[in-house]
Amino acid sequence: MALTLPVHPDPGHDEILNSGLLQELSHAFGGPFHFVLPDRFDTNLAAFRDALDEYGVEGKVYFAKKANKAAAFVERCAARGAGVDVASHGELREALGHGVRGEDLVVTGPAKAERLLRVAALQGGLVAVDSLDELERVLLLEVPRPVRILLRRFPPSQPKSRFGLDDDQLDAALQRCAAAGERIRMEGFSFHLSGYEMQPRADLAGELVELCLKARDLGLQADRISIGGGLAVDYTSAEHWQSFLTEQRPDDYHAQKSFTASDFYPYHSPVAGADALRAVLAAHPHSTGDSLAVRLREAGVMLLLEPGRALLDGAGSSVFGVQGVKDRAGYGILTVDGTSLSLSEQWFNSEYLPDPILLTDRRTGDGPAYLACVGGTSCLDSDLLTWRKITFPARPRVGDLIVYPNTAGYQMDSNESPFHDLPLPAKVVLQRESGRLRWRLDHRTAL
Ligand SMILES: *Cc1c(COP(=O)(O)O)cnc(C)c1O
Repeated sequence: MALTLPVHPDPGHDEILNSGLLQELSHAFGGPFHFVLPDRFDTNLAAFRDALDEYGVEGKVYFAKKANKAAAFVERCAARGAGVDVASHGELREALGHGVRGEDLVVTGPAKAERLLRVAALQGGLVAVDSLDELERVLLLEVPRPVRILLRRFPPSQPKSRFGLDDDQLDAALQRCAAAGERIRMEGFSFHLSGYEMQPRADLAGELVELCLKARDLGLQADRISIGGGLAVDYTSAEHWQSFLTEQRPDDYHAQKSFTASDFYPYHSPVAGADALRAVLAAHPHSTGDSLAVRLREAGVMLLLEPGRALLDGAGSSVFGVQGVKDRAGYGILTVDGTSLSLSEQWFNSEYLPDPILLTDRRTGDGPAYLACVGGTSCLDSDLLTWRKITFPARPRVGDLIVYPNTAGYQMDSNESPFHDLPLPAKVVLQRESGRLRWRLDHRTAL
C-alpha cells in the first residue's frame, strides 16, 4: 500500500475545487497560482479571541506576517482591530499601507535596522528589544514621544536560541529603562519558542508575569507579556499521521530519499490553534500554584500572542498545472508549471506532506491508480514539490491541475523568486458573496 496523508475533510474547500474556477484561473494566469481565503482567517482570529474571553484574560492577537505575504490577511487585521507582528521595514510598510494602525504593530526580529526602529517608534508601534545594544539604539532615536518597548526574554529551556536577553542582561536592561525616564515606555516582556509544546510556554509566561511585578517596583509600566507564536496546526488525523510515520521508508520516495520523523512538521497535533491557547491559559506554570490565566488576571497582565501559521489554517491552497508526465520503473514523474520555491517546506530538508489533489476533467476511480512524484519546471535535480510517490486516482494528463491544500501558513511565498525568469505565482483572493464564489487579485504593494 502506498503512503497517504489526506488533510481533514473540508467541504468549503471541496466546493472551490469542484467549482471550475481554478481551471479558469490557471488558464488566465498561464501558470501556478495561490488562492487565499480571508474569511477563514477571520474565523481563526475569532476563535483565538473567544479563547481569551473564556478565560477572562485580557489579550491581543498579532498576526505574524512572515507566514504569508498576501495583503488580504493584513487587511483583515486592520478591519478587525487585530495587530500585526512585523520584522522588517517592508513588512511594516505593508501593514501600515493596508490600514493597520501603528499602535497595533509589534516589531520583532534580532538587531533591527535603524529605519525599522525609527519608523516603528514614530508610528507608536511596540518594539520587542532583543539585546542591550538594541536598547541603546532605541534610546538614541529622535522621536517626539516615548518609544513603547517589550524586553525579549532568552528562553532558558532552549539554550541554542540566539534571541533574547539572559538574566543578567534583563537586570541591566530594567535598570537602563528605569533610568531612561520619558524616552521609553517599558510595557513588559516577550518570548518566542520554537516547537509546539504548551507547558514550556506556560512556564516561561509565568516567569514573565513575575518579572512584570519586579519591573513595576522600579516604576515601569510592565503590564503585558507576549508569548509569541508556535500554536500548532492540525492538518491530518492521528490515525493517518501515525501510520504514515511507521510505514514510510526510502522506497516511498523518488531517488530513495530518506526522511526521519523529526524532519517533518508535526502534521497532526491533538491540541491545535485556539485550543492550544486554551491549553496554555489552563496550564499551571511549572506545574504548581494557579493556572496561567489566574496569574495573569491577578497581576493585571495582558496576554499578547503572535500566531502565524495557526491564523492561516485552512486559509489558502496552491495550484499548479501538469506540464509533463513520464514513466520510470514502478512510478511516474510529473512536472508541474512552477517550482518547489512555491512550497517552502521543500527547502528545509523536509517535505510538505499533506496529499496533493488531482483535478482532471476525466472520470477517475475506474482506471488504475497511478503512482508519481511531483517535480518543478526548473533544471535542478533537487527541485521536487513532492519526493514521495503519491497515489493519484488516474494517470494525470498535461493540463490537469494539482492542488496542494492548506498552504497559506509558510508554504506559499517565503522562498519564491523569479528563478529561471519564471514569473512569481499570482495570489488570488477568493470569497463567497451572496452565494457566489468571487475572485480578485491580492492587493499587495509591489516591491
Ligand atoms: C515566526 C514568529 C512567530 C509566528 O510563529 P508561528 O509558529 O507561525 O505561530 C511569532 N513571533 C515571532 C517573534 C516569530 O519569529
